[in-house]
Amino acid sequence: MARYIGPVCKLCRREGMELYLKGDRCYTEKCSFKRRPRPPGQHGEQRVKFSEYGLRLREKQKVRRIYGVLERQFRKYFAEADRTKGVTGENLLALLERRLDNVVYRLGFAATRNEARQLVLHCHITVNGKRVNIPSFLVKAGDTISIREKSREITRVKESVTGAERRSPTTWLELDKASFTGKVKTLPLREEVGLEIKEQLIVEFYSR
Ligand code: SF4
Repeated sequence: MARYIGPVCKLCRREGMELYLKGDRCYTEKCSFKRRPRPPGQHGEQRVKFSEYGLRLREKQKVRRIYGVLERQFRKYFAEADRTKGVTGENLLALLERRLDNVVYRLGFAATRNEARQLVLHCHITVNGKRVNIPSFLVKAGDTISIREKSREITRVKESVTGAERRSPTTWLELDKASFTGKVKTLPLREEVGLEIKEQLIVEFYSR
């Protein structure tokens, strides 16, 4: 599946918030958004008043960029969230959270979702003891996610696991640092997602 490979700090500046796409650098003074908190480009300084459509569009783009999902796949998630019982916006966020690359990131095995995606694609991750190399694989309650034994020596992984809590503390996952293993305790609830997202705007965007 394709993915965005352009400059990522521009995305934070476009969305007007830190999306934490560059790992440790995001927590330092080198963060581009901290230094230039305005949209990228020559006219970035100009104040722009968004239309209602613009507001909804920006919210949708923001969430897509946080989770690193392209439009076509995002639409599919929305369609599935809409078909599922419950509040569509919350269903959508739960689906995105359950992606294997997000879970690997949340558990602290990688510094960014992009790095987590790489770990999954390169077969470093197992789910319930079986190798899975599909970043969009959806985890279920009770699943066990692990780093393969041979891959535990990767320095990046070791460092990431050590700094796991700082990045993305979450209550629906449980990490056992010693065995590089995480468990999905329950499916994520809206309040456990912990991101500044107005999911209702995304629902309105697709319901035009
Ligand atoms: Fe965004 Fe700052 Fe991280 Fe760049 S360094 S991705 S601007 S949070």
